[in-house]
Amino acid sequence: MRFTTLLPSATLALGVLAGCARTPSTSGVASPTEPPALEAIREAEVRRDLFALASDSMRGRRAGTPDELRAAVWVAERAREAGLQPAGDDGTYFQFYPLRRITVATTSRVSVSGKPLALWKEAWVTAPINSRLDGPVVWLNTMADTVRRDLRGKIVAMSLLPPTPLPAPKMSLWSMRYALAAIGQQSAALRARGVAGIILTADAATEPSLEFVGHRYQDGQYLLPSMPVPPAPIPVLLVRQSVAAALRAPKARLQAELSLNDFQYPSINVVARVPGTDAERRQENVLFSGHHDHDGIGAPVAGDSIWNGADDNATVSVALLAIGRAWKQRPGARSALFVWHGAEERGLLGSRWFAEHPTVPKSSIVAVLNGDMMGRNAPDSAALLGSTAPHRNSQALVDMALKANQNITKFTLDNSWDDAKHPEGWYFRSDHLPYARAGIPSLFFTTLLHPDYHTPRDEASRIDVAKLTRMTRWMYATGWAVSATPQRVTQDPNFKLER
Ligand SMILES: [Zn+2]
Repeated sequence: MRFTTLLPSATLALGVLAGCARTPSTSGVASPTEPPALEAIREAEVRRDLFALASDSMRGRRAGTPDELRAAVWVAERAREAGLQPAGDDGTYFQFYPLRRITVATTSRVSVSGKPLALWKEAWVTAPINSRLDGPVVWLNTMADTVRRDLRGKIVAMSLLPPTPLPAPKMSLWSMRYALAAIGQQSAALRARGVAGIILTADAATEPSLEFVGHRYQDGQYLLPSMPVPPAPIPVLLVRQSVAAALRAPKARLQAELSLNDFQYPSINVVARVPGTDAERRQENVLFSGHHDHDGIGAPVAGDSIWNGADDNATVSVALLAIGRAWKQRPGARSALFVWHGAEERGLLGSRWFAEHPTVPKSSIVAVLNGDMMGRNAPDSAALLGSTAPHRNSQALVDMALKANQNITKFTLDNSWDDAKHPEGWYFRSDHLPYARAGIPSLFFTTLLHPDYHTPRDEASRIDVAKLTRMTRWMYATGWAVSATPQRVTQDPNFKLER
């Protein structure tokens, strides 16, 4: 593996990490130069916390619901028990921020030729909009039909067509990607013909996943107040295949009265700190990052309606607690800042907010060590995103993480995921991203995707807790090295993400 060949860096030449070159002590008495509290990260405690945070009683911790707030309070209480200092707003562990929610109002109505369609069972409004439609439906068999006819101002209906290109065969959330791409492309093409409204009947690929895809539409949009609202110029409805016959019938007529709700709901980052021991460097912070939210409750899959998000991301939430206990026992030279972000699953919103409104001076954050999904797949496999171009933004930081792995945790690293051509774009899907964009050296620790990703089967019982404990030690050992260097790690010149 490319990752096992390390370039000597100035930092390593200084011998600051010399301790990492030793096998960790198993006696519980660490040598003065190795990460001193590896043994304080205990598998039994990681397991206990994981099963609590990923339990059904947490109801999937969805942002924009009281369930996320409950999870945040649970995390803060565990941080308090660990002796971490509150580092949120006003002397608390919490940083509240406003989620802007835009949803389809429940008063919305859709009917075809006088027969009402059940919203979110037979018909889905794909973007919240205030609109009233009442008129004949023009059924189109193919996109070629759109060229031969004047469709300006018309309500058109047709079957959903596959997107171009199709999502790569084994991509995560394939049916969601397929549907979103298909609806986006087809409605854009029809809008270009000047139509007033669009009804798409599910195709064979989409019909079985309508409830899964549709949950996203029912849930509406999540934004920070500073973010632009995605445009929804005309109504676009997705309906079941069973509605197609009524739409194709002569004199078919659509009546739709659609309205939206636009409101704010609190979301929450949990923030805690352990001060460093060095009189100067304690002003600086090594930021350990994860997210406590997940996807909540949805249509049952095999009888289970709770998306527990055990791997995603209870694993790292409890890893941060364990690192906090270790740091409290043996603080580093620089301070450790722990941020459990909210609303990651709704678009990295908590980390975007914290990166813009940090509760410590932004310039004091020397590095961000983010973790997301650290407890699945083969026991020795892991990945470190941000470790190779074009995503690497600090060679010095990468060297520290690789050195810690080489000497302590010894994972075999898969470095294909930083490739700009990797179809998953995994680097762009977790909470280090807003910090990297803000110029802060950042890494993303993960054990990668698996078939239970974003399903109700992502449960605590499926987590390899021994592996999670080892990943936690890797994050900790890396953070310890970052904390200990005389000079802080810096961003490499010419760092530029491909998107
Ligand atoms: Zn996640």
